[in-house]
Amino acid sequence: MNFSSQLLEDAVNEFAKLPGVGQKTALRLVLHLLNKEQEEVSHFGRTLIRLKEEIKHCQVCHNISDHNICSICSAPKRDGETICVVEDTRDVMAIENTNQYFGVYHVLGGLISPMDGIGPSDLNIDSLVQRVSTTSVKEVILALSANMEGDTTLFYLHKRLKDFQIPITTIARGIAFGGELEYADEITLGRSILTRVPYENSLIK
Ligand SMILES: [Zn+2]
Repeated sequence: MNFSSQLLEDAVNEFAKLPGVGQKTALRLVLHLLNKEQEEVSHFGRTLIRLKEEIKHCQVCHNISDHNICSICSAPKRDGETICVVEDTRDVMAIENTNQYFGVYHVLGGLISPMDGIGPSDLNIDSLVQRVSTTSVKEVILALSANMEGDTTLFYLHKRLKDFQIPITTIARGIAFGGELEYADEITLGRSILTRVPYENSLIK
């Protein structure tokens, strides 16, 4: 692309770094912003800067939060003795949208993936084991995507948690193998949490 302005080119290049945004879309977005009022564009920029500078991760569950302890962990109505383990914040949002789950969460921050060089120590697994060993927990639900990384992570988590003598369940696989949790519809996801099964029973014998 031949740009008539370096400023325009710089802005387009920044937008084009976003996932799924090519140069043409980036140009359209930048020109759209350029036509907006100064205050609106300033607000857009400030929102992004504040997001990065001020966002926190809950000290208990690692979910993205405005405070040191997230609104789910600090809500008195939630069942703090049931922990649902998920890959990332998008899964928390998907499960919250089902209105079928009233426990708390533990956000791993990814899945074990030897191909991508992601091992257990790169994820929030030690803090989960710590949580289970130091607080009163009556069930751990493993709600991970049904793919190879999800299965590897399930296997590893079960190994780390099985000696604590608490039920370890996994969501029912109404979700097809290869299915990402966040793309499951609310009814399917809600039902798969309600019909969760002990982890051992979920293994294909
Ligand atoms: Zn939390």
